[in-house]
Amino acid sequence: MENNREVLKIVVVGHVDHGKSTVIGRLLYDTKSVPEGKIERVKKTCKEKGKPFEYAYLLDAFEEEQKQGITIDTTQLQFFTEKREYVIIDAPGHKEFLKNMISGAANAEAALLIVDAKEGVQEQSKRHGYILSLLGIQKVYVLVNKMDLIDYSEEKFNAIKSEMNEFLNNLRVYPLKYIPISAFHGENMTEQSVMMPWYKGEPVLAAIDLIEKDKGVEDKPLRFPIQDVYKFDERRIIAGRIESGSLNVGDEILISPSNKVTKVKTIEYWQDRDKMEAVYAGMSVGITVEDEFFNKRGEFITHIEHAPYVSEVFRANLFWMGKNPLIKGKKYKLKLATQEVECEIITVNKVIDASTLETIENANQVKTNDVADVTIKTKEALCFDEFKNNQSTGRFVLVDGYDVSGGGIVSRMEKGIQTACTLVHKGLEMTVHCFDEYYFILSEGTVRKIPGKTGVFSVGDVLPVIGGTYSYSENLDIVNLESNRVAKIRKSVLQEIVSFNEYQYGSFDLIESKGSLIKVASEEDFKRFRSDFELWRERAGKTAEFANRWFDFMKNHEIKYREVANLYTLEFEI
Ligand code: GDP
Repeated sequence: MENNREVLKIVVVGHVDHGKSTVIGRLLYDTKSVPEGKIERVKKTCKEKGKPFEYAYLLDAFEEEQKQGITIDTTQLQFFTEKREYVIIDAPGHKEFLKNMISGAANAEAALLIVDAKEGVQEQSKRHGYILSLLGIQKVYVLVNKMDLIDYSEEKFNAIKSEMNEFLNNLRVYPLKYIPISAFHGENMTEQSVMMPWYKGEPVLAAIDLIEKDKGVEDKPLRFPIQDVYKFDERRIIAGRIESGSLNVGDEILISPSNKVTKVKTIEYWQDRDKMEAVYAGMSVGITVEDEFFNKRGEFITHIEHAPYVSEVFRANLFWMGKNPLIKGKKYKLKLATQEVECEIITVNKVIDASTLETIENANQVKTNDVADVTIKTKEALCFDEFKNNQSTGRFVLVDGYDVSGGGIVSRMEKGIQTACTLVHKGLEMTVHCFDEYYFILSEGTVRKIPGKTGVFSVGDVLPVIGGTYSYSENLDIVNLESNRVAKIRKSVLQEIVSFNEYQYGSFDLIESKGSLIKVASEEDFKRFRSDFELWRERAGKTAEFANRWFDFMKNHEIKYREVANLYTLEFEI
């Protein structure tokens, strides 16, 4: 079992000199992951050069060895905690990192974004935030480093936190934690810092152990793209590879995009000893179904409650490697899982130079080695998932003539303009406004609501529990009394949606879907609340009386001042 340890791949990003290497060096050092002798060597070199020792040099030492070919492969720096193994994905440059991530060669699940407390948020911090958003990395911690340079001030930490959070939220990146640290002095790295008693969270090492790994492909919803259909002694055998989830004989299945429902009759086998009642992600299989429609290559078999997106238009981030530039309106072939369709780029929303990370607006073409945020239209309906939910059915390639010229990931389904944030689970939808922001607009003398984070969040997605003007606990239950639904959020992640009638109080904060805390602190309170609610519903009206009795809006909110109302003029929008 010893090789069965969990591995979490993380990427460390941030503006140059904000402390990435020092953080990494510290983590390696503090977890005793630096080979014997290396520290001594680095210390000796420093002494010879008359420089003080720096943890960052440990990393240089690794890189140096890599360049000289001394070690076989240390592009991946590793360290261990008691819980698991960590691999730091350390690309030589942004270009390689982006290319590797988009093509699937590297896949970081989590990120540490380092910000210098003294310098605050810089251009590069923003660009790196943008990369995280581009790649759909959801599990992000922001480490506010060099706290020693600002006297470990809580106030200044909070100011940076607000600024960074507002920016990242606009990019749909919702950091799970902000940790004040001094990597150089080892404050809040492995142990609680005595210099910052006001910080009540975990130090970095304990905090990263709390990051929950994405579900394995076997535990995700079933995705079985049809590779081929063979006619075999009067039976039609559907063949393909199970990309995720599992499939059982007797399962009710949906075939998309033709939208047919049937049941799995058999899972085929060559010899009796291969006979199986269930097949799992990673297996190549042949099945027969009860109603033999005309299935064809490219279609997706899924379970009914977890249908894929089916659309002709979607938004994607792509890495272009073609000899010729990618041109808006030109026809390309798009391959996603086993589907092949003609497509064109209808909008180039933004182009990013992968080396400098500079963005270019209103571009009409995408040059070699550029990354672009584009809207793609296919000639026929395509089945897909958002990359963040399913990598194999959220990733595609573009073919120009005969050459694979670009790799991309689906960032989202284009559903028109959304005005709120929707939570979905097993066909249950819940529209919530608790992530909206409220500001006192000085020029108007009024409080205004700025619709917050629009988008669709499904089970497993990280929710924006910390905003610019609100902050909820990471475990909470959002109650929508109108639709009678409750969404359970654990560790900032949407866990499930249940009906209010079935819901059992679990000692977590109850937040009404518009953002008020429901004043319930015990099972008893909850029972009273429920019966009061039933009464109120029967009588109808007197809503304010009911709300005044049970709700507390200000508990998790503050109303900040703003000069003018046009708050969210987006610098970047994905
Ligand atoms: P990188 O470019 O992001 O990898 O940054 P480095 O880790 O190389 O750090 C840049 C400089 O900041 C180095 O001189 C570090 O010693 C210094 N530094 C890193 N962390 C801290 C810190 O917590 N406090 C102070 N005062 N300096 C730090």
